Amino acid sequence: MIRHLKYYAHRQARPLRYRFLKTLLVNETLSAEQLQQHQRQQFSAMVRFAIEHTDFYRDSYQGIDGPDYDATQLPVLTKQTVVEQRDAMVAGGPDQTGIKLGYTGGSTGKPLAFYYTDEKIERMRAGMMRSYRWAGWRQGDKVLNFWGARHDIKRHSKPFDRLRRYAAAEQTLGAYEFSEADLLSWARHIRSWRPTLLQGYASILAELAQYILASNIRMPSTIKGVFSTAEVLYDWQRAAIEAAFSCTVFNQYGCREVPNIGLQCTHGNFHVFSDLVKLESMPVDGEQRLLVTSLTNRVMPMIRYELGDLGRLKAGQCSCGSPFPMMELDVCRKNDLVVTPGGRSIYPSYFVHLLDAHDGIDQFQFVQTAPGNIVLRLSARQEAVDIVGRALKSRIQADLGCDMALQVERVESIPRSRSGKHRFVIGLPAE
Ligand SMILES: [Zn+2]
Repeated sequence: MIRHLKYYAHRQARPLRYRFLKTLLVNETLSAEQLQQHQRQQFSAMVRFAIEHTDFYRDSYQGIDGPDYDATQLPVLTKQTVVEQRDAMVAGGPDQTGIKLGYTGGSTGKPLAFYYTDEKIERMRAGMMRSYRWAGWRQGDKVLNFWGARHDIKRHSKPFDRLRRYAAAEQTLGAYEFSEADLLSWARHIRSWRPTLLQGYASILAELAQYILASNIRMPSTIKGVFSTAEVLYDWQRAAIEAAFSCTVFNQYGCREVPNIGLQCTHGNFHVFSDLVKLESMPVDGEQRLLVTSLTNRVMPMIRYELGDLGRLKAGQCSCGSPFPMMELDVCRKNDLVVTPGGRSIYPSYFVHLLDAHDGIDQFQFVQTAPGNIVLRLSARQEAVDIVGRALKSRIQADLGCDMALQVERVESIPRSRSGKHRFVIGLPAE
């Protein structure tokens, strides 16, 4: 009864989200051939829209004829181009009401900004709701998120003071920093709140799972799935999470600029949401680089956008029965936790987002060199290095207290790790 009331209230508050969800659920009933045809139409429609409404695509697609477009004939959109052409990529220009600027670390070490609207967020949430249903979640069921907004961080506040409660059956635990005491209170909260789904970064879910297993805490049987997002999910992390919560881990693939790209099903295959994106794999120097086109983003069209991840499309049909095509994902982003001298762990995203809205930075990397010391390597002009250094020192002081010192170093460039991926945050080596 309460569940239905919550569902009703949420529907009334979010009409757009539920309208999008309805369409997405219909798409899931189409055949593989129907989805392919739908994708072809949507792709050409997006290219036409981008040419007609943005300066950037009109100029860079000159001489390419429609009305149907062959993706392989169109240029690749790099992160560098998005940085340089950001404003020219917005349909109708960026000076419209309702258009906001979002930030992401990208995967190359270069901070990237993109434009979005509330409608784009509603589309993203509808896509997430469809994903949740793969685990057996239904509208009104509880979802517990593990990620934190920056303002959640208060050194002396208890985790439950930071708990944000929504009218929706959804709660978020601030998780940029946590101690063993936090892990215990989160485990207790899961036991009393009895959510259907848990969702968050792989690294924090794995830490929590290991703590729960070591402390032998029983988790409620209401949990149907754990959604891992934004980071590479290692096999040992998956094993710990599945053992602690006695359910399947669903690995999500997407990024802030283009969310809901794919989801791993209960049969272990990654499916591409081909009604929301067109995913391609392009061979470069012996690697298969992933390109994505959003089929729904008419604010700032992203066409053949190079994600910075490696992978390939996979032929055949999955035995789970989903009509969505399959993909394989190779090495992904890796970032480390930072540990304070007092034993608190700080989630890497905290550091990555410190540089949001700072201009003029080519690359950055945080390296923990000692328990109370972090070095920020910046590739930027000296002026930008000075400004960022001053701003971040006082921010870290305010957020984390005085036991964490920051040193800023200006560097020419930052080498990639052996896997070829940029690491934004490198913690102390394991003992
Ligand atoms: Zn499947």
